[in-house]
Amino acid sequence: MSRVYDLVIAGGGAAGLTAAVYAVRSGLDFLLVDSSASMGSQIAQTDEVDNYTGIDSITGIELVQRFYDHANKLNAPMKNDTIKKITKQNELFSVECEGQTLLAKSVIFCAGAGHRKLGIKGENEFTGRGVGYCAVCDGFFYRNKTVVVVGGGNTAVTEAIYLSKICKKVYLVHRRDTLRAERALTKKLESADNIEILYSSELAQICGGNSVSSVILKNGKELECQGVFIAVGIVPRSEAIKDIADTDEYGFVLASESGKTSCKGLFAAGDVRTKSLRQIITACSDGANCIDSVNRFLNEGAQK
Ligand code: NAP
Repeated sequence: MSRVYDLVIAGGGAAGLTAAVYAVRSGLDFLLVDSSASMGSQIAQTDEVDNYTGIDSITGIELVQRFYDHANKLNAPMKNDTIKKITKQNELFSVECEGQTLLAKSVIFCAGAGHRKLGIKGENEFTGRGVGYCAVCDGFFYRNKTVVVVGGGNTAVTEAIYLSKICKKVYLVHRRDTLRAERALTKKLESADNIEILYSSELAQICGGNSVSSVILKNGKELECQGVFIAVGIVPRSEAIKDIADTDEYGFVLASESGKTSCKGLFAAGDVRTKSLRQIITACSDGANCIDSVNRFLNEGAQK
C-alpha cells in the first residue's frame, strides 16, 4: 500500500516554509513540495525587505535562505517537484506531481502568485529582450540606461526605487492620479531625483527592433527607453486546486485566517488565498495558523 502522509505542503515560499517549521514541531508526517530548487521564488525577487519585525533590513534572497535554513536544520522533509493537480477521493488527497503522485490526509496549498501581464502590443514579443517583471533579476542589464516601470502598487514603487540606483533615468507610469503603494515607499520614491512619475498615464505599445527602444503612451507621447518593467499586480497560482476548492472572481482561493477552504482537509496560505494584506509576515502567519488547523482537522478524524 502507498504511503499516506498526514500532510503535503504545496509550495515553498514564506507560508510553506513556516508551515514546515511548525509541522516538524507538531510531529506531523509531512512533505513539502516546491517546483523551484531555491524555494521562495517570489520573496527572492525582492531587493530590500524592511518590514519584517526584528530584522530592520535584509535582501529577499537572504531572508528566504534563512527560512529555508531554519526548516532544513529541523530536518523538514522537502522535495523539488512540480504539482500539476490535486484531487480528493474517499477522504484522501491525491497530489499529482510531475515525478510522482503523493497521498495525504490533508494539504496546505501555498503556491503563491505570479505576475499579471499588461496585455499590450510588444509585451510578449519583447519579454526577455527589454520587457521584464523583476527588477532585482534583470535590473543589472540596464545600468546607466533609461527604463519605464508600470504600476502604482508596492511592487512598482519598490522596483522603481531599486532601478533608480542603477539606471540613468526611471519613468514610473501609473494609470491613476494617486499611488496605491504605502507612504513609507512613496516618500523614498519622491526623494529620488532620477525618477519621473507620470500619473494618469497608460502604455499603449512597446516598440523596438531587436530590443526595446521606446514605449508609446495612450495619449500619444513616446518615451525613449531600453527597458520596461511591468508591475501591475499578481495572479494567483490556484489552477491545481480549481476543481476542489472555491475561488473568488480573480482565482484567489476563498479562505479565512484559519486557512480553511470549501474543501475539508484542504487549507490555503499566503498570497494564493483571499486576504487584505499580502506581506511576507502575513504569509508566515498563515503558514503557522494552517498547521494549527491541520492538527485540529487530523484530531477530529482520529476521534471518529
Ligand atoms: P497591487 O497592489 O495589486 O498593485 C497593482 C498596481 O498595478 C496598481 O497600482 C494598479 O492600478 C496597477 N494596475 C493593475 N492593472 C493594471 C493595468 N491593466 N494597467 C495599468 N496599471 C494596472 O500589486 P503589487 O504591487 O504587485 O502588490 C501585490 C501584493 O504584494 C500587494 O498586496 C502588496 O501590498 C504586496 N507587496 C508588498 C510589498 C512590501 O510590503 N514592501 C512589496 C511588494 C508587494 P490601480 O492602483 O489603479 O488599481
